[in-house]
Amino acid sequence: MQRGPWRRVLLKLSGEALASSAGDEVIDAEVVDRIACEVIAAKSELSLEVALVLGGGNIWRGATGALEGMDRSQSDYMGMLGTVINALAMQDAFERHGQSARVQSAIQMEQVCEPFIRRRAMRHLERDRIVLLAGGMGNPFFTTDTPAALRAADIGAEVLFKGTHGGVDGVYTSDPKSNVDAVKLDEVGFDRVIAEELRVMDLTAITFCKDNKLPIVVFDVMTEGNIGRALRGDPIGTLVH
Ligand code: UDP
Repeated sequence: MQRGPWRRVLLKLSGEALASSAGDEVIDAEVVDRIACEVIAAKSELSLEVALVLGGGNIWRGATGALEGMDRSQSDYMGMLGTVINALAMQDAFERHGQSARVQSAIQMEQVCEPFIRRRAMRHLERDRIVLLAGGMGNPFFTTDTPAALRAADIGAEVLFKGTHGGVDGVYTSDPKSNVDAVKLDEVGFDRVIAEELRVMDLTAITFCKDNKLPIVVFDVMTEGNIGRALRGDPIGTLVH
């Protein structure tokens, strides 16, 4: 399968991609700035329409609270609010660099952002605005992988980019951190990912992408310049299709 050229894409970054690697800031302005600049540069070079889904793991993960005895749904709603904070930080960085951006949330909070309205989101994209889709799906018991896949299909994105932050630069035959024999795959089919439980995204998201024929490119977002490389279709990371 050819990588690109694409017209409309959705980029999913985990919240931890925004955190500082050196300090203890949950949102590092420098990192947010770098990501914003890379997205803007690639968008304009390739004339892309870009939607972004940010996770919230740098602020809160529902599973963490549940492990400590919290009600799972309550804890997940906290996580969803975290994704809105990240999206607002990212919007701010885009706008400081002259790139118009809108935040749409699955949980309504009209004082700070728009609600998610599919047609309006697509209109923003057509008008050259970056759309940040926050609040996950608005439902507990999910992570942001599944809304990233769902929204990508919903707004007609041709591909879902999943930026990893933990030093793993694609999909491997097993966990490269615990197995030195793990081999990186340049391309892999959905069936193999599912059968071998390869670590790409949540299984719910993978199954959704498979059913809806939505390819995924998994790449390391922490390496400078990689957002541009991935969006351009350079053979980095792993193409799942
Ligand atoms: N979350 C949720 N429903 C959603 C999306 C997210 O309940 O549709 C909650 C869930 O608790 C999750 C948290 O928001 O742990 C933050 O999202 P995620 O863990 O995906 O963040 P990431 O790991 O990508 O930073």
